[in-house]
Amino acid sequence: MKQNHLFSFSGLLCASILLGSVILSSCTSKPAPTAAGEESLFPNTYVLDDGKTTVTWIKDNQGHSLRDASLFPDATPEVVKELGLEEGIPSTISCFLLHVDGKWALFDTGLGLGKGLLVTALDSLGVPPDSISVIYITHFHGDHIGGMVYEGKPVFPNAEVYAGQREFDAWIKEMPRENTKLQQEAMVVYNEHLHLFQFGDTLVHGVVAIDAVGHTPGHTVFQKENLLVIGDLMHGAALQIPHPEYNARFDMDKDQAAASRVRILKYANDNNLLMAGMHLAEPAFLEPGQAK
Ligand SMILES: [Zn+2]
Repeated sequence: MKQNHLFSFSGLLCASILLGSVILSSCTSKPAPTAAGEESLFPNTYVLDDGKTTVTWIKDNQGHSLRDASLFPDATPEVVKELGLEEGIPSTISCFLLHVDGKWALFDTGLGLGKGLLVTALDSLGVPPDSISVIYITHFHGDHIGGMVYEGKPVFPNAEVYAGQREFDAWIKEMPRENTKLQQEAMVVYNEHLHLFQFGDTLVHGVVAIDAVGHTPGHTVFQKENLLVIGDLMHGAALQIPHPEYNARFDMDKDQAAASRVRILKYANDNNLLMAGMHLAEPAFLEPGQAK
């Protein structure tokens, strides 16, 4: 477990050196790609099709995560065995760092200080929290917005926050307040910097918000160039790629979640998109063709 953690950390350091355009030769991973988007620079960082925007995986959970198949009530023991997943389904809790138009942006913020590794990883990349200028939120579960706030203060004091109107309404206006303390706090702390979007909107830096409801009432996936950030579309990809109809217990509206999963996976496959998912197995990317 420790060794894997160190491996991940060294990968982040390599990405740091690369992103800082300092010395490439000290990284032992792959050489620089011949053309942008054709090859990953490192397992953790890709250049998008515009040839300049990069996306970097940030692992927020400690150690390794295996989801028990019982998280997926529709999965029969036979299917689980057939897929070789009896020991569990590989997973992560992940965030993604975008370097775009000379700025740093985050997709989701993980579990939070004291629980998740996001801020430690950002520091190791030379990207301190106050240099994050944009946060795009896929949905309001604690493993996605928990990292926004610490002891009542913003962890990312210079960030503009983009959240879905439908997600905001569901958690802030419709659910009982006693069940949504974290969500209320996060929205209050960033109140002056909160931008609520509709599905289909193009947000700052050309990131498009796409309807992927079901996991939560306003669950959103984001597209930038050939990158599709799929949030919690899948919690056990090894099981849900062959069986996109299987929901996780966490999916709030089962029918909508399954329909969104089928629709978004088809869209990604039809358009050869690179998927980045908050609970995909390490390194939390699916390259074109890997989700067929
Ligand atoms: Zn989640």
